[in-house]
Amino acid sequence: MFESLSERLGGVFERLTKQGALTAEDVKVAMREVRTALLEADVSLPVVREFVKKVEAKATGAQVTKSITPGQQVVKIVHDEIVAMLSGEEAADALKIDNPPAPILMVGLQGGGKTTTTAKLARRLKEREKKRVLMASLDIYRPAAMEQLAILGTQIGVDTLPIVPGETAVQIAKRAKTQAAMGGYDVYLLDTAGRLHIDEVLMGEVQQVRDAVSPRETLLVVDGLTGQVAVEVAQEFDDKIGITGVVLTRMDGDGRGGAALSMRATTGKPIRFVGLGEKMDALETFEASRIAGRILGMGDIVALVERAQEVFEKEQAERMMRRFQKGLFNLNDMKSQLEQMMKMGGMQGVMGMMPGMGKMAKQAEEAGFDDRTIRRQIAMISSMTKKERAHPELLQASRKRRVAAGAGVDVAELNKLLKMHRQMADTMKKLGNMKGGMLKQAMAA
Ligand code: GDP
Repeated sequence: MFESLSERLGGVFERLTKQGALTAEDVKVAMREVRTALLEADVSLPVVREFVKKVEAKATGAQVTKSITPGQQVVKIVHDEIVAMLSGEEAADALKIDNPPAPILMVGLQGGGKTTTTAKLARRLKEREKKRVLMASLDIYRPAAMEQLAILGTQIGVDTLPIVPGETAVQIAKRAKTQAAMGGYDVYLLDTAGRLHIDEVLMGEVQQVRDAVSPRETLLVVDGLTGQVAVEVAQEFDDKIGITGVVLTRMDGDGRGGAALSMRATTGKPIRFVGLGEKMDALETFEASRIAGRILGMGDIVALVERAQEVFEKEQAERMMRRFQKGLFNLNDMKSQLEQMMKMGGMQGVMGMMPGMGKMAKQAEEAGFDDRTIRRQIAMISSMTKKERAHPELLQASRKRRVAAGAGVDVAELNKLLKMHRQMADTMKKLGNMKGGMLKQAMAA
């Protein structure tokens, strides 16, 4: 997600940060480009106007233009304003699912990814929060949809309410409530029927269900690729039903990201999760500072660490986190990351999340950087001594020849690896050094 926006903004800021002194005019020119980039990403005009106005006011202040690193300051201001735009006044809390059994109502148009998301969320609550979860489909118009949820339930090991033909949506909802209470479930998810368009009948039915169970959370699932339409749909559902949050799906696609950027500012409703694929584990929490980092091409270390945690031994992940927080990143860290990458589905899944790699991902693809390359990189690091891995600057000509020969590659390829490591280590250092730490902030989110 956000690739093109991130590419555009990356270019603007690269020019800014390269300049020593900044005039108000420089900032104006940059902001014009930021404005165009945001509009092209399908962010709504009022939101863009407000955003640019705020950034410009802060960025042309005397402290900024006279500071030693004006470019970086502007980037920081933009980062903070993106966070503000994404998260509004207060941050999106975790789901309110204390007081078992807590009902969660899933609403949205047909085809938006509601059923898939219901199952993804159920899996997440089960795996990460160790909740006992029950799912029920209220889609009495499409038996196939009920079947689909039951199949997903089996796949992820979450119970679904048995299907009883002939019941109304409200009857099913009430049965789910009773079953959840009697069966000792912590949460029950109600997957309501969707329509192709918003209509009175749909809204009426969802209102009845809402009144029957008093949901703790009502999550709107909406296709992130539809841009401004997604924001309009959210507004309608909020007016008629009252939603507590939004899940944007298909954010793995080449959507321009505008829906995510306008949602909070326009509807006042937080984005809780984003869907990043069809698989059951492709659901991430939406955290403003992480997303802002991604948009500005700073990579997404937090997501990386979070994903890694699922695969890694916990201890190892914590060690990695502590090192990251200190801005440390040597070749051993790189090797374990490369190994994890292979475990986490190779290049494609992970590349965009690594610090400073957003832009490189594309170049890498073009240069034929693939899983075979990763294996060779692991081999190169394996051919180094312990000392060399901890202190890559030791690798001068003769050592380089030895390492390259050991891994069966030429020195040029080893140089590429070392350069890549330096870039990553630099980014890591910057993130670790930032006062009040962007990284720490992201971790705390
Ligand atoms: P519903 O009609 O709203 O219940 O939609 P479904 O859950 O049946 O989803 C419709 C299609 O979208 C299915 O093929 C899903 O696999 C797919 N889908 C759902 N979420 C995502 C996502 O985040 N990314 C991608 N690429 N596909 C998704």
